[in-house]
Amino acid sequence: MTSTSPPPAVAARGVTHRYPGADGRTLLALDGVDLDVGAGEFVSIVGPSGCGKSTLLRLVAGLLASQVGGIEVLGGAPAEAQRAHALGLVAQDPGLLPWRDVAANVRLPLDVMGAHDPERVRALLDQVGIAEFAGYRPGALSGGMRQRVALARALVHRPRLLLMDEPFGALDELSREAMRIELLRIWEQERIAVLFVTHSVAEAVLLSDRVVVMSGRPGRVRAVIDIPLPRPRGEAQESSPAFVAAAAAVRAALRAEDVEGAA
Ligand code: ADP
Repeated sequence: MTSTSPPPAVAARGVTHRYPGADGRTLLALDGVDLDVGAGEFVSIVGPSGCGKSTLLRLVAGLLASQVGGIEVLGGAPAEAQRAHALGLVAQDPGLLPWRDVAANVRLPLDVMGAHDPERVRALLDQVGIAEFAGYRPGALSGGMRQRVALARALVHRPRLLLMDEPFGALDELSREAMRIELLRIWEQERIAVLFVTHSVAEAVLLSDRVVVMSGRPGRVRAVIDIPLPRPRGEAQESSPAFVAAAAAVRAALRAEDVEGAA
């Protein structure tokens, strides 16, 4: 009997990536990274600036060609998953078109394909809580609302893997907290796999099933920490002993790198 369980969202083995340097040398950005994201799983990556988190995300997204090591996304090559519209991407900069209103920004990926699905666009605007702003231009929205638009746009093709690169990094603390809760709510409904890059340990612990802690450049996986908090989750859990212990474990793994880096 063949198994009907879905393929893992990401299975990366021994991923090493070099960029060309200005002086003819190369810069080793990632060194032998393994990464697993199960179907429907929420995994965060934390690590110091420049450790290759964005590089890893871009490799998984198929935006960068992998050089050394293997990356499978949803059971195939990253570019295949991208072509099948199975990936959604949300970056720190929402990247909205200023001359299009909210609804037109959300439906942009459909317009590009010549597709038409006003029902889907309406449902998404509702889901991310911006239905009443459908006719507004991005310039009239707060940072948090612009990120909601970017999230809705990323979900428009019903992706099976959502890649988020510091999506709330430019938001003020209150908007950031609201967006975490919103993302958790949407994830509970959709149960798509999420690979989430953040600098915030508390954010990673609140959201994730597992947190991948990376070392400084060249980026290596220093630790993978399970977050055994019950779901659905909310801010009330942030003071629970299990939350505090998980956050301490992530911080200890990050600090271990500092000590090594200083040696
Ligand atoms: P992070 O997201 O963890 O801050 P990045 O993946 O952006 O790290 O970058 C990892 C390293 O690779 C950094 O040292 C960065 O300067 C370098 N790097 C990133 N993109 C390029 C590029 N296009 N060309 C050359 N070097 C790059």
